[in-house]
Amino acid sequence: MTSLIMIFGATGDLAKRKLFPSLYRLFERGRLSEQFAVVGVARRPLSNDEFQQSVKDSVQSALGKDERIDEFASHFYYHSHDVTNSSSYQTLKTMANELDEHYHLGGNRIFYLAMAPEFFGTIALHLKSDGLTDVKGFKRLVIEKPFGHDLASAKELNEQIRTAFSEDEVYRIDHYLGKEMVRNIEVIRFANAIFEPLWNNRYISNIQITSSETLGVEERGRYYETSGALRDMLQNHMMQMVALLAMEPPIKLTTDEIRAEKVRVFRAVRNVEGEDVHNYFVRGQYGEGTIDGKQVPAYRDEPMVDKESNTETFVAGKVMIDNFRWAGVPFYIRTGKRMTTKSTKIVVQFKDIPMNLYYQTEKELNPNLLVIHIQPEEGITLHLNAKKAGGHLDAQEVKLSFANSGVNAMNTPEGYEKLLYDCMRGDATNFTHWDEVAYSWNFVDKISAVWEKSKENFPNYESGSMGPKAADELLEKDGFFWWPVTDLDVDNCQGK
Ligand code: NAP
Repeated sequence: MTSLIMIFGATGDLAKRKLFPSLYRLFERGRLSEQFAVVGVARRPLSNDEFQQSVKDSVQSALGKDERIDEFASHFYYHSHDVTNSSSYQTLKTMANELDEHYHLGGNRIFYLAMAPEFFGTIALHLKSDGLTDVKGFKRLVIEKPFGHDLASAKELNEQIRTAFSEDEVYRIDHYLGKEMVRNIEVIRFANAIFEPLWNNRYISNIQITSSETLGVEERGRYYETSGALRDMLQNHMMQMVALLAMEPPIKLTTDEIRAEKVRVFRAVRNVEGEDVHNYFVRGQYGEGTIDGKQVPAYRDEPMVDKESNTETFVAGKVMIDNFRWAGVPFYIRTGKRMTTKSTKIVVQFKDIPMNLYYQTEKELNPNLLVIHIQPEEGITLHLNAKKAGGHLDAQEVKLSFANSGVNAMNTPEGYEKLLYDCMRGDATNFTHWDEVAYSWNFVDKISAVWEKSKENFPNYESGSMGPKAADELLEKDGFFWWPVTDLDVDNCQGK
């Protein structure tokens, strides 16, 4: 795909760890045309040679490869520029026009903002006023999360970027939508006659989505203190997974149709406000504890974190979708740092059969579960009941597993690679539309408004645990429990 890719924040962590290696993989797979150029923008002074060397180093350290790396890196150029400095955009424009001509790029431009969000508005306004968006070809803006801090700031940011780009030119990244198994949710649902007819409140009792990390806040204390798990994870990634699980089948697999169905889900999500927040949502903050045999500090003892911080590092909640398909089915979601294991999984729990004729030796029949393993392992497991060999009327649980491993997994492109490729092709399906962002902030703002008014008794969960007790009680009062994510691992399922 011919285009000029301008990366703002080209000396930063995201560019080095994700963007350069992803671009290289696209180049290596022949998905980048010979006609492409990348302009890196950041403040520190670097020559083109130094910048190209940093690109090569990033690719080598991420992928351990260097085939055709010199050829790849020769397409990279650097411009030292403070994005708040108005005068320097003209130089950037001249550089972009020259590269456009040199590589015959047809005026196609992708502006990737890999920088702190406070700069997004300024950059977008300058790109327009200084004529960088004045092109013959397509112009697209890729922005990273967080998209605002709440609905009001997201609206303000959106208005700023919309002065220079139309909605269909804005690609808001939610990197979960680049994950293979998140993209697979639609296929599993809409390509299987055995699931779609059961995918509703008549047959499903509840759906659980867990995204747990073992890492703490690391070096991101300053940012995290203003964000917390609700804004950092739930507003975007978790709610996107809810939408994909709950949406109606689109009439066609086009961007507009899929997004419209997702927006319909967001519109049906029950808003929770005031005192009710305590009945639907639980927050937590990690104390010290042990992970992988190592003692780790409490959140409040992490660098750049307030000693009396009220920021949540864990959130669990019950999301209700008030429409015909989902009325009465809770979607339980939880996410947190410093938990027992690093894992993202979806568990779809089907309702019990009307009458149990078969008993397992020690316990009642297990409900059928469909487990979608998002990361680190990728796959699907279906939990069924079958006759116990040699037994009489005993049933036992059997698990049918598909693990996306071996050749398939090796060839699975990394999330950012897929999203960059989608953007180059002009496919915005796996990026979030403004309406999704707005509905989701509206939902989350009502929860944070209640939480900000009162201090929680933090820390309330030990590092290395699965969160505070109240998160378990949230399900217990509905007669459910969190399926233990480690027991559900694909490896634990095979051959059983
Ligand atoms: P970072 O490592 O701090 O990099 C920031 C970049 O911005 C650097 O290249 C910095 O270079 C440049 N910069 C800062 N101020 C500038 C200015 N006034 N003018 C021009 N350039 C300036 O940040 P990051 O981790 O890459 O994150 C970038 C964005 O991606 C953030 O919005 C973050 O939330 C988001 N994000 C990151 C990750 C990740 O894995 N890192 C994941 C998801 C989302 P100079 O110092 O040379 O100017």
